[in-house]
Amino acid sequence: MARRKTKNITGLARIEGIPYHDAWVGFICLSCGSLNNIRIGLQLLDPKTTYETAEWKCSKCGYLHSKNSDLPFENWSEDFTVAESIKAQRFWEAFFRIATEHPESYWKQCNACGRILPFAAFSKHSGWGPLERQMECRSCKGAINAVLNQKRTKEQLHESSVRRRIADLLLEGENKTINIADLFKRFDSRCFKIKHLLDINKRDTWEIDHILPSRWLYPLTRENAALLSTEANNNKRDKWPSEFYTNNELIELAKITGADLGLLAGKTPVINTDINVDKCVERYLRVRERSHLPKRINELKKILKDYNLVNKLSPKHRKLLGFTK
Ligand SMILES: [Zn+2]
Ligand SMILES: [Zn+2]
Repeated sequence: MARRKTKNITGLARIEGIPYHDAWVGFICLSCGSLNNIRIGLQLLDPKTTYETAEWKCSKCGYLHSKNSDLPFENWSEDFTVAESIKAQRFWEAFFRIATEHPESYWKQCNACGRILPFAAFSKHSGWGPLERQMECRSCKGAINAVLNQKRTKEQLHESSVRRRIADLLLEGENKTINIADLFKRFDSRCFKIKHLLDINKRDTWEIDHILPSRWLYPLTRENAALLSTEANNNKRDKWPSEFYTNNELIELAKITGADLGLLAGKTPVINTDINVDKCVERYLRVRERSHLPKRINELKKILKDYNLVNKLSPKHRKLLGFTK
């Protein structure tokens, strides 16, 4: 079997040369108990014909599974284990029927991990091969989705939501009120991503995208606002613009909003140090929130340190927050 791996757009390696639409049968050797898989191709087997003709040899012990073989069962009396006996023939008939009668009994090879896995390990795909299953197994499919969706761990999600909350608190007061009619006019009443028409009066169908995310300390302003459908905005969340918009969209966006294209198109987020950190911190400390002040201060300090903003604090505030030097 070819083992050369190729990359595709999902970033998941695929194994070339795997006949991924082919069906396999799987059976446990009656003699030694090993699992065997035999590739049968694009046509499922007929139980009756299989019983009449199959000769499935165990790859480990060599025992031949065929209606002409004696059964290797020690607990059965000899009269019954000899191939010619009615009881043995009934057993063989059922043995081959179980392995071939239902599509669910068949196996298939995943073209991403190369494993031969039972039918149920693959998701449905109408019209693909006799089993109508996808090319890759569910766990590889999961890996593909993880790559595509940039799935984040619970911890990272928590970390980023804490960060976003603090950033939002810090920016309160920096945000400008957006003139909605003006926003709709500039964006031609369309979702900037999907391009379909939006109704200004249906408030739950559209959102104002914070183009440069608050997470990186960009307040909402006229030039930092885009009109998106709720759907598109759910995908955007606090992604950096270049992660969400295409290059052409970024150019268009800069044209509409007057935002800095270099910043929008940058591959990595840039922290906005152009804010009045002292003012923001003062406001932050005044906000009434249920969570403990010491905890909030620790979170604030962490973000100020990570974002390299400590040196932007006045000596008074530096001292207040317990930054030495
Ligand atoms: Zn065997
Ligand atoms: Zn797989």
